[in-house]
Amino acid sequence: MLTGAGTAAAGRSVGGRLLGMRHFGKAAWVGSAMLALPLIIVGALAETVLPSWGTRLATLFLIYVVAVLGNQIYSGNSGIMSFGHTSFMAIGAYASALLTIAPAAQATALPHLPGWIAALAGQPLVVAVGAALAVVLVVAVIFGLPVARLGGSAASIATLGLLVITHVVLVASTDITRGSQTFFGIPRGVPMWLVLACAVAATVIARLYRSSRAGLGLRAAREDEIAAGAVGVDVVRLRFGAFVLGALLCGVSGALLAHFLGAFSPKDFYFNLTFLLLSMLILGGITTVSGAVGGTAVIVLLVEVLRRIEAGGAFGPVVLPPVFGLTDIGIGLVILTVMYRLREGLFGVRELDERLGLDEAHTVGAPVSAAPPAAAAGVDASLSVEHVGKKFAGLTALEDVDFILTPGEVVGLIGPNGAGKSTLINAVCGIVPPSSGRVAIGGAPVAGMAVHDVPRAGLGRTFQNIRLFRNLTVLENVCAAANSVAGAGDDPVAAARAALDVVGLAGQAARIAATLPYGAQRRLEIARALALRPRFLLLDEPAAGMNPAETDSLMEVLRRIRAEHRLGLLVVEHDLKLIMRLCDRIVVLDKGRQIAIGTPAEIRADPAVIEAYIGRRRAAAPAASPPAPAGQGLPAT
Ligand code: ADP
Ligand code: MG
Repeated sequence: MLTGAGTAAAGRSVGGRLLGMRHFGKAAWVGSAMLALPLIIVGALAETVLPSWGTRLATLFLIYVVAVLGNQIYSGNSGIMSFGHTSFMAIGAYASALLTIAPAAQATALPHLPGWIAALAGQPLVVAVGAALAVVLVVAVIFGLPVARLGGSAASIATLGLLVITHVVLVASTDITRGSQTFFGIPRGVPMWLVLACAVAATVIARLYRSSRAGLGLRAAREDEIAAGAVGVDVVRLRFGAFVLGALLCGVSGALLAHFLGAFSPKDFYFNLTFLLLSMLILGGITTVSGAVGGTAVIVLLVEVLRRIEAGGAFGPVVLPPVFGLTDIGIGLVILTVMYRLREGLFGVRELDERLGLDEAHTVGAPVSAAPPAAAAGVDASLSVEHVGKKFAGLTALEDVDFILTPGEVVGLIGPNGAGKSTLINAVCGIVPPSSGRVAIGGAPVAGMAVHDVPRAGLGRTFQNIRLFRNLTVLENVCAAANSVAGAGDDPVAAARAALDVVGLAGQAARIAATLPYGAQRRLEIARALALRPRFLLLDEPAAGMNPAETDSLMEVLRRIRAEHRLGLLVVEHDLKLIMRLCDRIVVLDKGRQIAIGTPAEIRADPAVIEAYIGRRRAAAPAASPPAPAGQGLPAT
């Protein structure tokens, strides 16, 4: 028992040192091996039985795999399509070429090369590739810093700019690159062992990255950036890391391609190559490493076949004329057809190991401890909302809201639609910074913190409109949160399982979150917030849209959380019966103002509250006095 646990912990820490792999470790390693094996077989065949054209094709495939995985690490995990990573191939190619070119060729091809660059030439291939990577690293950092701050199509356009800028600079630097003319004279040919080693390493890196904390965080942000911030994911930092890591792989691929081709020009690393690489990625399935490798194989073979047909000639009894552009048109049509039928690409959204049920979500974990996730330090600190106000361009959404939430207490937050309840939760969590007032935990201010730091300060929340990471598994949803607060010795997967157990979803760990029934999705959001080990949990209309059975099971969960965890709960709810039963105290908002605060009995008797609710009802139904709309009256119990 003890030995087993020790071995598992040791395994995790080896991965942990490599890439922040604290969990999903075993499955990711197995998945890497499953993908590396076919590559090794291709390499071995190329060295032994394949004819020379087959060897050439296999080498090209392995070189492309590295570049496609570079694109996958950034684009696949972040959801931001990059057109710019081909630039890093170009930079890798030219840097490596300049470092390996033979002196005689250098004198002919590059007579005006600056002396200090000329002096560096004549390096062995491996040294040149390594040095080229250093150049790629510098450029990737310079571009990555601003690009990481962008999301969606803005980031894509920025990467397109990078592609164009790199191309123009290469063409303009005639003394160094021969401009748009062909760069020649570099040692031709790359040893298969080097290409294979790079392809296998790229596969392992990409597969481990996808399952690492960083990869999971980035995938969570791809699904929902706001929710990712609310569970402590620093998306800008993660995007930057993935951008640079992807650039390095592309740089290696570019350097290898340069030596494979022996002669090339800037247009070889421009739109056509970008289109080809993205085709491979998208055809296979951009979100998985399996898809990237598989898509590369399919397109490399397809291109080979189409090129032969395009060139024309005799195919058995059939003689075809040359057809200009057939290859590009063919790839376009194949992508169109595949995407029309299979939106997620040929290999879907799940890795091979996940399909085979080898991942953590499918594995039955260690027995879940019945104990609640331990709350963070400083358990007796209170959450104080001090005179908080919020103005939106002329509209006062909140005005002077002031109350305290202590650990173990359940406070209800009620008020008509538009009263400012959601705005208050957003203000407390820093998503909508307050215009005035202060929010503090144990006296330490929360407002002004970066949104992703707020969860670590002890605040968990759910959203009025469910914001799950829809295409991730139930377990991954919760792990994304557990990772944010896990310390060196913690096991986030176990913590995530414990949180799932609290809301009754432990048996659904492997399901894709979007496929859960509505009520379960709401409970999953609560589990995700609980995995942050918060001191305070803010629930925005947790029972909205639930049927009575789902509401009952939610009540059970909230009671359990309250009994077992010493959490402060702030619950926004329209169902007043539920609020009156559940809460110790109630805060009433109306048009942004806090009109009452007190125990359920006090609130029921408060003239201002009765005015706000009953007055509203009278105004809404002046003549016939129809029954009150559900949840709008003040029930006696
Ligand atoms: P509740 O959750 O109590 O129904 P909200 O907090 O969602 O109310 O909204 C309070 C008021 O603030 C509403 O009038 C709403 O239109 C306004 N509001 C909320 N968010 C924004 C925003 N981002 N920009 C402008 N107005 C907003
Ligand atoms: Mg609301």
